[in-house]
Amino acid sequence: MHARSGDRKAEPDRCRTYHETNTETETMGKIILTGDRPTGRLHLGHYVGSLRRRVELQNSGQFEKIFIMIADAQALTDNADNPEKVRQNIIEVALDYLSAGLDPRKSTLFIQSQVPELCELAFYYMNLVTVQRLQRNPTVKAEITLRGFAEGAVEGDTAQRPGIPVGFFTYPISQASDITAFKATTVPAGEDQEPMIEQTREIVHKFNSVYGPTLVEPEILLPDNAACMRLPGTDGKAKMSKSLGNCIYLSDTADEVKKKVMGMYTDPDHLRVEDPGKVEGNTVFTYLDAFCREEHFAKYLPDYASLDELKAHYRRGGLGDVKVKRLLIAVLNEVLDPIRERRHYYEGRIEEVYKVLEAGSAKAREAAAATLAEVRNAMRINYFEDKELIAEQARHYAARQ
Ligand code: ATP
Ligand code: MG
Repeated sequence: MHARSGDRKAEPDRCRTYHETNTETETMGKIILTGDRPTGRLHLGHYVGSLRRRVELQNSGQFEKIFIMIADAQALTDNADNPEKVRQNIIEVALDYLSAGLDPRKSTLFIQSQVPELCELAFYYMNLVTVQRLQRNPTVKAEITLRGFAEGAVEGDTAQRPGIPVGFFTYPISQASDITAFKATTVPAGEDQEPMIEQTREIVHKFNSVYGPTLVEPEILLPDNAACMRLPGTDGKAKMSKSLGNCIYLSDTADEVKKKVMGMYTDPDHLRVEDPGKVEGNTVFTYLDAFCREEHFAKYLPDYASLDELKAHYRRGGLGDVKVKRLLIAVLNEVLDPIRERRHYYEGRIEEVYKVLEAGSAKAREAAAATLAEVRNAMRINYFEDKELIAEQARHYAARQ
């Protein structure tokens, strides 16, 4: 299945140029693995943090293989009592992927739980990581607090908390198996993933030094724009996140986007139009940093030549929030309109979307199984294939008879 021919024509020309300039040496050995948890629909944070980059890289032709994973097993580590939520969101994430421009002919889209080899790898990697090292992972620490898993260690705190599920605590190890199973060199992701990739690199290093060179050390590919590393929520909170309910979704209608932007956090001291305003920490400007390009001004706000000019006016005073918000709404809808259009197309083809995921999962399983075989060989747990081991022991015990 693939997008309509109309969609292909809409692809920017530079995508084709990348394909044309691609040489075999450039693509040799460069592999992407990345993904998302099916805990909700994808939002603008996912888009600028990783998804937009994935589509560009996919169309660049510079990668030998691209694996995009719907991380349902990871989502279950903190949603074990709500499997239905995970189950229902698989299709949402798949629709968001295809709508954003991931193309199953170029990228392998698959579901994590359908590749059981990943669990076996994680089981072996667990021996290479200490509890203390996991406890130091800042993203896991923050998420434990966010999810209310932290135990009542504070004196006088009698709150009954569920404690930290072991699966959740060890999810960085599971992520290391996801990445290494595909010999990924490159992981396009937001800033919160940095500690995970670091942990993966440590596991790879340890594995290779104990069992011999087998696994590949990956690198994170962060967004090149600071605003995209960790896009704040519409409430101005640190991160737009499904779990915080402060999101603009890729599947939101133009009306929903308008309402959310109009209600967005700006500078609380910018009360009247003539007041000087702050741009730093002003969510509307952070979003413009992430999405606005120079050509948007000629189209939507020709009184200004650039975002810098708009910011300067806001700082001076005399520029109202509503005008800035209107620009943001126009820019966001320009990004979201083609995504909405493709979503509409794929929503009418759900069976085909599942077929894409099924075929992708089979392909991913083949790749992971090949790595697992290498891992078993390196760890010398390949007893039945090791004819020498059997012959040698047979000789040894025969001599004693
Ligand atoms: P959950 O709350 O279930 O953890 P989430 O919204 O944090 O969901 P994930 O599935 O954990 O989303 O993240 C998937 C990818 O999107 C990761 O690469 C992550 O870095 C990136 N990402 C998520 N939120 C943002 C954000 N606000 N800004 C930039 N990147 C983000
Ligand atoms: Mg997350």
